[in-house]
Amino acid sequence: MAEDSTYFIERSGLWPLLQTLVAEGFDVVGPAVADQTIQYKPIYQESDLPKGWHDQQSSGHYQLYHDMSERLFAWANGPQAIRPFLFPSDELLWSSKRMEDGSLVFLPPDPQPTKIAILGVRGCDMAAVNLQDQHFLQASHQDLGYQKRRLSLFLIAVDCSHPADTCFCASTGDGPHAGGEADWNLAELDNGYLIRAGTDEGRRLLEKRASLLQMPTQSQRDEAIYQHQQAIEAQSKALPSGDLSSVLFAHLDSPQWQRVAEQCLACGNCTSVCPTCFCHKETEQVSLDVSVSDHYRSWDSCFSQGHGYMAGHQVRPDIASRYRQWMTHKLGSWHQQYGRSGCVGCGRCTTWCPAGIDFVAVANAVCAEDS
Ligand code: SF4
Ligand code: SF4
Repeated sequence: MAEDSTYFIERSGLWPLLQTLVAEGFDVVGPAVADQTIQYKPIYQESDLPKGWHDQQSSGHYQLYHDMSERLFAWANGPQAIRPFLFPSDELLWSSKRMEDGSLVFLPPDPQPTKIAILGVRGCDMAAVNLQDQHFLQASHQDLGYQKRRLSLFLIAVDCSHPADTCFCASTGDGPHAGGEADWNLAELDNGYLIRAGTDEGRRLLEKRASLLQMPTQSQRDEAIYQHQQAIEAQSKALPSGDLSSVLFAHLDSPQWQRVAEQCLACGNCTSVCPTCFCHKETEQVSLDVSVSDHYRSWDSCFSQGHGYMAGHQVRPDIASRYRQWMTHKLGSWHQQYGRSGCVGCGRCTTWCPAGIDFVAVANAVCAEDS
């Protein structure tokens, strides 16, 4: 199998292909309809996948609808990203136990994570995984829990063919094509899939089902290219171009921050659904007899009061300063930290904002003050 070979598999071939992963000890997780949204759930049978389901999204709005389409991936991302599989919302880091002789022992957390194959990862979420890898694995200290979970993941990306009205990955350069870094990369066509392995492990596992692989025809390749172009053209939102970091930091006193604060509820939904956020807090849960203490790490948010509390002082006392922190970090100081913006254009923060605040519109409003 050549390194960059693209193959065609028939629609009926996807399930046998996934069974190859099951035989290799992976739990398969994929898109499924749950709580009236599309989320990543364990997939036990083919009918668990969202055949014929589509979504409508706008600021503060998400709705699913169904038709007779055979397609499994004709929807844009729901609220859940890959982040919870790598950086859980609550994680036990260690426990400490007081022994009878008065000494303290520190106990490690969970055993080895299970092997998980995630089907249906979009380009924006692949880019977000790369960003979280930078934060948790490529910094001066590696996060061992994250590293174990990352090594246990097999990622199956699928090009996004139906972006939502809130998506803008084309303007951040992170989609709608899923890129080449997943283990398998798929493009769904009317009658099947183009598939390409992006890693050695992906290649090894694809070879196990060589009987399912066909050489794609030119019209199948053309269909994928056309679909990709349509998905780009369907996106009407775009972040401002140019040096966004400098522009935002030149506008720390913009009246736009106060305007958005009049709408914002400081609920933190936007940071919960964002695939790149990594802020957290750490807490102790101590047993009543004080013999055992569990040390937890939990997601935190720019919008929580505690997150701005430092050395007895609240550094972000109001919603305007918290929203400004969220946007100037995500679109500004990430460039200094990680060499790129922290936004991958998934649009979740806009869809899931109960106040209907449009992240792109706010960025454009702040930057427009320059002109
Ligand atoms: S800031 Fe919003 S659009 Fe950008 S990655 Fe986070 S949730 Fe997605
Ligand atoms: S911007 Fe929206 S989602 Fe984010 S904290 Fe404010 S109200 Fe909540």
